[in-house]
Amino acid sequence: MIDFNAPYTLCINGQAQPAPNQLDVINPATGQVFAHCPAAGSAELDAAVSAARAAATSWRDLGFDVRAGYIARLAEAISAQVEPLARLLVQEQGKPLGQARDEVGRAGALSMGMTRIKIETEVLVDDAERHIELHWAPLGVVGVITPWNAPINLAVGPMTAALYTGNCIVLKPSPFTPLCTLRIGELMRDIFPAGVVNILAGGDELGALMTAHPGIDKISFTGSVATGKKVMASAAGTLKRVTLELGGNDAAIVLDDVDPVAVAKKLFFAATVNSGQVCMAIKRIYAHETVYDALCNALAAEARNARIGNGLADGTVLGPIQNCRQYERVKGFIDDLRKGPGTMLAGAEQPTGEGYFINPVVVAEPGDSSRIVTEEQFGPVIPVMKFSDIDDAVRRANYTRYGLAGSVWSADTARAAAIAARLEVGTAWVNQHRHTMATVPFGGAKESGMGRNYSLLGLRGNMEPRVVSILKG
Ligand code: NAD
Repeated sequence: MIDFNAPYTLCINGQAQPAPNQLDVINPATGQVFAHCPAAGSAELDAAVSAARAAATSWRDLGFDVRAGYIARLAEAISAQVEPLARLLVQEQGKPLGQARDEVGRAGALSMGMTRIKIETEVLVDDAERHIELHWAPLGVVGVITPWNAPINLAVGPMTAALYTGNCIVLKPSPFTPLCTLRIGELMRDIFPAGVVNILAGGDELGALMTAHPGIDKISFTGSVATGKKVMASAAGTLKRVTLELGGNDAAIVLDDVDPVAVAKKLFFAATVNSGQVCMAIKRIYAHETVYDALCNALAAEARNARIGNGLADGTVLGPIQNCRQYERVKGFIDDLRKGPGTMLAGAEQPTGEGYFINPVVVAEPGDSSRIVTEEQFGPVIPVMKFSDIDDAVRRANYTRYGLAGSVWSADTARAAAIAARLEVGTAWVNQHRHTMATVPFGGAKESGMGRNYSLLGLRGNMEPRVVSILKG
């Protein structure tokens, strides 16, 4: 069990470890520091990598079923403490308590789902001359680096994928949201053999040390496109494998046959969940001209009715932006919108006072070359653009270096599915947005990433294919 009153510690070689430096953690609802935790440097990283390497062979040899048993114990331990973990998550990250509970609950479920996937040796050739098999071997030590928007989910998913496939891990959360990850490290210390799991809080420079470290075989990174490019460049020095889950600029295309009010509710939630700080949030809406005005009005009504506040308060729909840097960035988008040419249908008034709060914004026709359309806002600001020709809508949706996901909304699912298949993305949804499952690959096309998480494809990203070729007779 986690002792939520104990000081935070790193987890290295199965031991609680302090560090000479510390991180201040800010509650975004107040803008004030509310906790401190140790910050690892290169000495702690070297110790963690050595411990992971020392544990790698025995962990590999345990086999999938035994490793799945360890992950099941972790999932059980997390589900026994959903409420205190969710409350801590709200304090460090800001999201409403209901969304925090979902995040904690989903983490265990997704991990367990992955451990039901079988990875088997394949026979490629078996003829008179040769028997050739394809084996899947763990890589060794996987470094997991996570962002601040969903620190539990984005740690537990990649971490358990690496562990299940036989790797040991060194994990670093974002310096903005290290606390829940360190608490989960406390649980894992009591469950996993020493050295298999190492959890280090630290700043961006610790991430850079990990990507260059010769003792780490793969980096599983979730974060921004800009940092993802640095990770890949640094990993090239030791030819580390990388999985990059990066930013998105997801388009939703709304066809002429929808009920605009009903669809607006779903679009609004998918655009503003976690205050829009979701890689696969809807970030642009293209609506057919026949439903455009009704949809804009319904979205604006949703925005005006959404209650903004501390995530721990009853009835909060949108919590604060997670950190000051991102808050200033989102305010910058809103300031740009005030200069036109778009029309702000909601959110022209913004809160002042403590905390990083933003009222949701709906803006009509800001222009295809505006920043709000071309960049990832990662905040509750929704641009809505009109189209009359579906080919034009698809072209505009695809006119971006991002390619994480997208969606098409229609009463005619077959028509929508044919359009969805033309989106240049990792996932194209019909009449939904943000649905993921342990058995379904998730990841980005174009600059939204490389490789996939979840599913057999994602698990194999933590393994090396190895051919064993036997000459008969
Ligand atoms: P970020 O790139 O700033 O930071 C992510 C992590 O990388 C942090 O732990 C940070 O300390 C570390 N880091 C920073 N510099 C580094 C370096 N040079 N080398 C190695 N590590 C380094 O991202 P963020 O601002 O924390 O997160 C928001 C971004 O993450 C958004 O763009 C969002 O879309 C993206 N994201 C993507 C997914 C996905 O699954 N595709 C999921 C969630 C978030």
